[in-house]
Order: sequence, then C-alpha cells, then structure tokens
Amino acid sequence: MYNPRFEKETFKKEVKHNVKTLYRKTIEEATPQQLFQAVSYAVKEVIIDDWIATQNQFKKDDPKIVYYMSMEFLMGRALGNNLINMTAYKEVKAALDEMGIDLNAIEDEEPDPALGNGGLGRLAACFLDSLATLGYAAYGCGIRYRYGMFKQKIENGYQVETPDNWLKEGNPFELRREEYAKEVRFGGNIRVEYDDSTNRTKFVQENYESVLAIPYDMPIVGYGNHHVNTLRIWDAKAITDFQLDSFDRGDYHKAVEQENLAKTIVEVLYPNDNHYAGKELRLKQQYFFISASIQAAITKYKKTHDDIHKLPEKVIFQMNDTHPTVAVAELMRILLDEEELGWNEAWDITTKTCAYTNHTIMAEALEKWPIDLFSRLLPRVYQIIQEIDRRFLIQVRERYPGNEEKVRKMAILYNGQVRMAHLAIVAGFSVNGVARLHTEILKNQELRDFYEMMPQKFNNKTNGITQRRFLMHGNPLLADWVTEKIGTKDWITDLSLMSGLKKYADDSKALAEFMDIKYKNKVRLAEYIRKHNGIEVDPRSIFDVQVKRLHEYKRQLLNILHVMYLYNQIKEHPEMSFFPRTFIFGAKASAGYIRAKEIIKLINSVADIVNNDRSINGKLKVVFIEDYRVSNAEIIFAAADVSEQISTASKEASGTGNMKFMLNGAPTLGTMDGANVEIVEEVGMENAFIFGLSSEEVINYENNGGYHPQDIYNSDPDIRKVVDQLINGTYSNGDHEMYRDLYNSLLCPKDGSKADMYFILKDFRAYAEAQKKVEEAYKDKERWAKMALLNTACCGKFTSDRTIQEYVDDIWHLDKVTVEI
Ligand SMILES: *Cc1c(COP(=O)(O)O)cnc(C)c1O
Repeated sequence: MYNPRFEKETFKKEVKHNVKTLYRKTIEEATPQQLFQAVSYAVKEVIIDDWIATQNQFKKDDPKIVYYMSMEFLMGRALGNNLINMTAYKEVKAALDEMGIDLNAIEDEEPDPALGNGGLGRLAACFLDSLATLGYAAYGCGIRYRYGMFKQKIENGYQVETPDNWLKEGNPFELRREEYAKEVRFGGNIRVEYDDSTNRTKFVQENYESVLAIPYDMPIVGYGNHHVNTLRIWDAKAITDFQLDSFDRGDYHKAVEQENLAKTIVEVLYPNDNHYAGKELRLKQQYFFISASIQAAITKYKKTHDDIHKLPEKVIFQMNDTHPTVAVAELMRILLDEEELGWNEAWDITTKTCAYTNHTIMAEALEKWPIDLFSRLLPRVYQIIQEIDRRFLIQVRERYPGNEEKVRKMAILYNGQVRMAHLAIVAGFSVNGVARLHTEILKNQELRDFYEMMPQKFNNKTNGITQRRFLMHGNPLLADWVTEKIGTKDWITDLSLMSGLKKYADDSKALAEFMDIKYKNKVRLAEYIRKHNGIEVDPRSIFDVQVKRLHEYKRQLLNILHVMYLYNQIKEHPEMSFFPRTFIFGAKASAGYIRAKEIIKLINSVADIVNNDRSINGKLKVVFIEDYRVSNAEIIFAAADVSEQISTASKEASGTGNMKFMLNGAPTLGTMDGANVEIVEEVGMENAFIFGLSSEEVINYENNGGYHPQDIYNSDPDIRKVVDQLINGTYSNGDHEMYRDLYNSLLCPKDGSKADMYFILKDFRAYAEAQKKVEEAYKDKERWAKMALLNTACCGKFTSDRTIQEYVDDIWHLDKVTVEI
C-alpha cells in the first residue's frame, strides 16, 4: 500500500471527520460538492507528507532545478489524477463505495482549472506530471488567473463565452504562501547615478507603480514514487499605502491605481491560441509572473549557495514559447543591478541558464511588442534589451560584413518593435522545436538565418502526453486490459512496453475484447451526448472525432464541408451503401476570432439539418460538444474510432491530441503535418489514413502567390455544390449572407488575403477519398480492430516521459532524486 492513511477504515474516518469539521454535517447530509472538498482535503493530507519529504530530499541532494515557465498550465482536474499517481485510486474508490459515495460523481464536482488555451498549456501540464514521475526537481511557474479560459455555451448554434469562476468554491489543492511574496515594478523612469567609491553606474527606477506577487503552490504528484513537485502560480495584491515610498505616502490616486493594477493583472487569461494580440495588459502579465518567478528562484538559490556565478549549475529557466522571454532581460537586470555583476559575467550566466521552446511558425502568432509600449512599461528591461541587441548586431556584422539585409532580418529591435523570438534565440543556449518536421522547417525556413549562425543551439524535442491521465484515468477499462495482456503494470512508467500488445494483432479473441472496450467507451460518450446535447447517437456508428481549438489552419471547415458533401451524396443516392457515422466536434474559438465563430455556427447548423432529417435513417449524425476541456476530453479520446488531424501541412507544429487518440486506439486520418509524420512512422502507413498536400508543396504554393481555388470550384460539381450551399440558404433558413464570409474566404476574400489560404478545396478530394477508405476499412471488423490495436501498441514514443528524458539528457542535465520515506 502506498500509504497506510489510504487504508479503508482510516480513510473513511478521515472523510467523515472532514465533513464534520468543514460543514458540521454527516456524510448523508453533505452535498456532492462538500463531499468533493472533504475527500480532497483527506487526499491533500497525504500529499503534504510526501511534499515535505520531497523538499527535504532536495535540501539534502541539492539537485539542479528546472523552472518551466509558461503563461498556461492546462492541468485538468486534480483529485482523480492525484489518486492515480499515489496508486490509491481503486482503494479510495472502494472505501467511498462503502460509504455510499460514488468517486466518479465526486470527481465531477471539481472544476477544471482552465489556466490554458489548448495544446501549449496541456503540454506544460503533461511535462510537470512526467518530471515528478521521473524524479526530477521542477517548478512550474505561471499565473493564477482569477478567470481562466471562458466557459463555452452554445446558444442558437452560436458560441457564447461566459466567465469561468473556477475558484468560487475554493481550491483544496493549493497553498497560499504569502511569506514568499515578491514586488514587481512597472513604468516610471530610470535615474542613472555614478558611484565614485565603487566606480559603478547605478540604474535606479523611480516613479514606478508596483504590485505584490503572492505565490500559490499546487502539488504535482509523481507516479508511485512519493515525489511531489510544485506548480507555483502567482496572484497579485496591491501594495498597501504604508509600504509606499515616503514620497508617495498618502497619494490617494496612486493607491487606487495600484489597487486596480493588482486586480486587473491576474483577472483573465487571454483566449487566443496561436495568435498575438499585442495588448499592454498581456505584457504586464508576462513581466509580472516572470519577474516574481526569477526573483524567487534567485532567492532560493542564494539561501544555500554563495557564488552567483555558479547559478547555471543549479538552475534552468525553460521558456514555453516566447511569452516568458522577458525572463532573459529580467535575469540580466537582477545580475547587473542587484548582484552588481559586470555585463560579460551576467551574460555568461544568463546564456547558460535560459532555453527556449518554439511552438509555431505562423506569422500571426509571433510576438512583436511596439517599442514605445515596451520601453514605457519596462524601462530598465528595455535598456538591457537594447544593449543585448547592440552587442548581437556587432557579431552579425562581423560574420556578414556589409550585409545590412542580414542585420535587418536578425535584429531584436527593428521597425519600432521588440521581436521576442529573436531575443529568446540570441539569449537562449537551446532552441527546440516540438516535432521533427517542425524543427526542420524552423532550421530551413523560418529561422534559417539564426540556424546558419548558431546551429549548435537548435534541437528537436517531439512532444508527448502522459499515459497516467489519458489512459489510466480516462480509459480505465483499456488500462486494465493492457496490464492483463502484457502481464505487467510497468507501462504506466514505461510506455515502450505497449509494444507487447503487437502479438495480439491477429488474435481474434483479443481483438474482440479490445473492440468491446471501445464499444463500452462509446456508450459512455453517447450517454454524455444524450445528457448534454439531447442527441441520440448510435454507438455502433463510426465515431469520427475532431476536438481541438477552432482555428482556420486546423481546418474544421474542411471536415464540415465534407459532412455536407456526404449528406448531399446520401440524399442524391439513397440506395448507396453507407456505413453510419457520427461526426463529433469540440472546439473553443477565441472570443474575437469572428471567422472561427462562423465555423462553429456552421457546424451547429449542419447538425440541426442532418440530425433532424428522417429520410437518411440516422446514417449521419453531427454533434458539437460544448466547452471542450481536459475533463470531457478524457471521455472523448477513449470513445473515438477516427482521429481527425487534418491541419494544412506545415502549420501544426506538433499536435498532442493526435497522440491521445493513438494511445486510445483511434487511427489517424490526417495530413503529413506535425507529429502525425512520426505517428505514421511508428504505426505504419497501412494503419493510418494519410492524404493531402505535403508541407513542401504548401510552402511552395505560398512562396508563389497561392493557388487558384476557382479552378477547382469550376471543374468539380460536388465541391461547387457544397461551396454554393454556404450562400444559398441551405443551412441558414434562406439567409444568403450568414456564411458569405466563409464562402469568400475560399474563393475571393475581401480582406486582401489569398483565396483559400489553408488549401481546403485543394485537399478536399484527397480528404473525401481518405474518408472513403476509412469507411471501407471499418466495415471489415477484424481489419479495423487490428489497426486500432496497433495504434495503441505503437504509441510508446509519444509519452511525455520520453520527451522529458530527452530534455534532461540534451538540455537540462538534471539530477535524479530519490525521495526516501
Ligand atoms: C490535448 C489537448 C489539446 C491539444 O489538441 P491538439 O489536437 O493537439 O490541438 C487542446 N485542448 C485540450 C483540452 C487537450 O486535452
């Protein structure tokens, strides 16, 4: 047993005690939410012991620590995951059963801490799980948004965003740690002083506004090893007036301003995925959590080390995309102005400590802050960036004499903007992409100049996911079956062992069991859909699933246009054989992304027509799952037959949803993009459905002004019919304007962009043919079962445990810690 406190009678007593002291109630009287709280506090008690033990082990071993800096951590619910990782899930479930409490129902009382948009935030969460499981010392550093990602409601087919007050009932798994608060300063001006006695120039920030950053710590429980790391997310609090400089004391306006700053800074997560909006508040958020995190890391380091020069031996700051990149300048500021190092010493330390992960090559996602905004908000940090840029450009000119074009292309400060990616590359000692194809595109296209000048920095770390959440917790039936079939539970921490399933690929009995589990999971999802959408779907139909953020490059529009095409086919050829299909979508659109919201409306309009057409005998169903998030994702992946990964080749850096589907036995229907390439390499072309333009072809078209979708529209009557249905009122009650913008985007955009930028019509036929092959394959039950099973069997590479071990071996060089209990 992991811990005697999970012993049935002990645990039951603990829960009863908590219900009594927290609510003055008995188990029978308590509400489900109160039971969730009581159970969670009982679990937290056990976690705290391991948390303390881990921190004590750190004190003894003094391991190198990675600080994983990310604007987003899409954690998903904690209770079930913590129980899984403490290997106590089944015991606790049984104990609660005896009390008449259903653990699953209790778990549903926990709000998803939606502190992320999509893949980038979920990656950070999977990484924390793997870091703790592998026994490495790590902190996640982020923001405790009061309102995270909005809750999505679908009203009349439209997305409506409502605030997600996830902290309303309190978060049992967090600890407020007021005593570790840090001050963060914004704005004002820099006074330069010369100190004769030390011969140093001092830079003093004056007339600034500031806030107090207060950390909240959440435990990150490793699997079965008593290792508990920390996710430290920062809240903001006003600095009360007695703490103001004497100069400002009694300044009422200033006090109110600082109160407002504190309140707004952590108010919301920006709901943009892969899109830069350039909002001042966003830059404030970035500097806020970065300054607090770096200050805290330095304070911690200095408690037990006296030589700041050796910081790189004990500390790594990994920057998850460019959002935390101000870290390099903040670290320089602290080393220069507070530690009083010289520039070269400070730069040497910084460039051995900071590393950068690139997540996208799309122009609209690149962060470029206007210099006037940046320098006004962060005057000292800006001075430092100017000096970094100045010194870097000297090197560029040395390397490329007379080549001012190079200088313009590579500069950090250019055209009135601060290019955060360039800063990250210049200051980071490592620049990694997140899948092999993406890293190659970085090196050969987008970041070619940097790769040419500093090839040693560039490396690939193909993303991964944690099997603890996405198989053990999300799909317990399959998890138990895997354990039985390969004869060990060790796959939980060594996913390569899944290859032990390959020997069942031709075993009819095993295949039948595998598909029976899939069927049960489809029944579970069908019940969820009945409850949430009021739609009856047949679990014997093919569950064809596309769940991910709504983005033009992810091409949900291609998917729904194809559904419209199938519907036309069924109507035109009622005699045609057609295997029943359920198309399942789930996606949030950024609140300001109008075209993405039109696509959601279109999906729901098509669903309305198709689902209510009796003449097609339920052959086609379309379901839009509201508020796609980690908790319902777990149920969806387990129930999927087909994994839709149909991004325009070259646009999806990696994808991780693709890996979760694979793990759960859903073959990929996709383009040769992101990690799909590596998925196919592992499972074999014959166990996936690959179609469409290659990334080279896409890039070629892009470099030559696009292509002519009109030609396809004119020559293919099926495609023309579907496209025309966007403007002939078929799906809009006769309204010809509702989907006009989508129509225009394909044929003649009004905003000056290229027609069909994402090659939807270009790839349509290939997609339809691949879909036809899916149907053919599915009709052959044994063949399908084999494909599905082989996907699960070949998913070993895509565990985040493998990814993290690669980061450790190639970039971080962390020490393993064994927690002694
Ligand atoms: C995995 C995951 C994502 C990322 O999905 P992609 O298909 O890789 O874009 C987004 N949101 C949630 C809730 C996820 O679990």
